[in-house]
Amino acid sequence: MRLYHKHLSFLIILSIILALIFIIFIFLTSASHSTIQSSTKTLSKENFVLGTIVTITLYDHQSEELLDSAFNKLTELENILSINKTNTLIDSINSNAGISPVVVDESTYHLIEKGIYYSKLTSGAFDLTIGPIVKLWDISFPSARIPSNSEIQEKLSLVDYRLITLDEANHSVYLNKRGMCLDLGGIGKGYAADEVAQLLKNAGVQRALINLGGNIYALGDKPSREPWTIGIQNPFSSRGNTIGTIHITNQSVVTSGIYERYITDKDGTTYHHILNPDTGYPFTNDIAGVTIVSDFSTDGDALSTAAFALGVENGLSFIEKLNGIDAIFITTDKKIYVTSGIKGNFRLQDHDFKLYN
Ligand code: ADP
Ligand code: MG
Repeated sequence: MRLYHKHLSFLIILSIILALIFIIFIFLTSASHSTIQSSTKTLSKENFVLGTIVTITLYDHQSEELLDSAFNKLTELENILSINKTNTLIDSINSNAGISPVVVDESTYHLIEKGIYYSKLTSGAFDLTIGPIVKLWDISFPSARIPSNSEIQEKLSLVDYRLITLDEANHSVYLNKRGMCLDLGGIGKGYAADEVAQLLKNAGVQRALINLGGNIYALGDKPSREPWTIGIQNPFSSRGNTIGTIHITNQSVVTSGIYERYITDKDGTTYHHILNPDTGYPFTNDIAGVTIVSDFSTDGDALSTAAFALGVENGLSFIEKLNGIDAIFITTDKKIYVTSGIKGNFRLQDHDFKLYN
């Protein structure tokens, strides 16, 4: 009888201990669960706009309306900047070439000014008036084709940024020759990324990633208060395959390369979409991809196209001279060259590639 009692009280104590352990376990797991959730709570939206897939992710601000207004902003910009849509503001500048100046809003005026600035800075390797040649090739569209040499020669005289007349007083833009055509394809996505970053900042967002088809702006830092880790595109693979990383806060990372937009003729020769304003044909150099790291994406976008146009050697010394701008060049034979400002930041992960300098 005493033995039975002892056995019973032992069982009661054991079950109390087990129950306590269970309660503590439940408490601990639910507590850690809620911290994980609150620290990784994100809100993201993806859509096709400005000719590319755009993803915007908010890390500290759970507002779908805000994401919607960011995408509305992008559609609004597409309706201003695109040359692949009719009735855009740029389309109106182009159809009034040689006829009359067109008054534009202040923001578009400054973007065009910036495009001209980079055209001058690269002595026309980047040229905002490349439109007539871009339209001939129409790369990335179903009507893409290799134009005849005579078609190209016919259009070349229309490509010259010095034939743009700006009027600061009334914010008008005039293309001096009939048939001239502005193309903001090399700068517009960066500008759009900056505009969206500003919209989010104005709404109080402190942490967000804006990705316009590889044109990235990282707003603030990560929820863990560390810099964002951004992958550098592998120029020989499809979008999203990376060769290494860099860490950034409030900066932009933009890549121009030969991996995405090109056409191939029946002999297997490929023609990519960064075109030489002097010849009308794609630049032929040993760059497979070039990434620009900068504070503003507008600069990063223009400079990634410009650096591509300049080639590795001239491109490196050109970027090195620009304050606050860095670059990663990847050559067709898998060599990597980086400018001095991000030497310690770039981490190579794919050892098929070799880091020089
Ligand atoms: P992506 O659009 O693939 O991100 P880029 O930012 O490098 O690529 O811009 C390439 C686009 O810039 C082309 O599709 C064309 O619209 C335009 N472009 C092509 N060649 C030049 C050039 N020499 N100068 C300025 N813009 C160019
Ligand atoms: Mg560009």
